[in-house]
Amino acid sequence: MIDFHCHLDLYRDPAKIIADADEAGIYVLSVTTTPKAWVGTARLALGKKRIRTALGMHPQIVHERMGEMRLFEDLSVRTRYIGEIGLDGSPGHGGFAAEQKKAFGHALAVSERAGGKILTIHSRRAVDEVLAMLRHYPEAGAPILHWFSGTDRQLREAAAMGCWFSVGPLMLQSEKGRRLAAQMPVDRILTETDGPFATAKAKPLVPTDAWVAVRQLASIWRVDQKASATRLKQNLRALLATVPDGEERTP
Ligand code: MN
Repeated sequence: MIDFHCHLDLYRDPAKIIADADEAGIYVLSVTTTPKAWVGTARLALGKKRIRTALGMHPQIVHERMGEMRLFEDLSVRTRYIGEIGLDGSPGHGGFAAEQKKAFGHALAVSERAGGKILTIHSRRAVDEVLAMLRHYPEAGAPILHWFSGTDRQLREAAAMGCWFSVGPLMLQSEKGRRLAAQMPVDRILTETDGPFATAKAKPLVPTDAWVAVRQLASIWRVDQKASATRLKQNLRALLATVPDGEERTP
């Protein structure tokens, strides 16, 4: 299965999590929160065919990392996956709106210049602003709004713009999350865990927990687990076909 947004470097024992995911045949997009973390995080997955490492600049800590924008640009040629990037308007983070916007715009501009990247995007309490930025950089690649928590209207707008969505067990536990997921285009959804930030029963979610989301989606779509899994794998293939391949350069 697919965990398209997971922070492998932030687990207590990344090697164990990676070995388990590999053994279970899970496709993982390992996202970083800072440019500096990218090389080490990509190295964790060396030799693992189903793990890709995205170059990120998390909006919640971006104000401390403005000096890494140049590094972001330098590293961007080594991967076609960008994230976690985006904006966060929630209390405690909205105060750095200018810095967030600058770094997010930079990431989108870099992606656009490269001919498009696969982008995993944080949009908590900032969906309108994120969509406005994406309109400003229409060639940035394939945007995936991870753990979307906006309104129905914002969802319709994002879907109309061609955005993708990645949804996980925690999001789909809530009624609002299920209602949103039911309105997402079925051919533009992927599963994620957002572990180890996302937890269940005080334990961090791990990539193999993506199966929980597969079952939750099966219930929303009123299909069986096998049909849900097949749909999601088709979606991943379609997504990868939208953005130029380029050789993945190992760290
Ligand atoms: Mn995340």
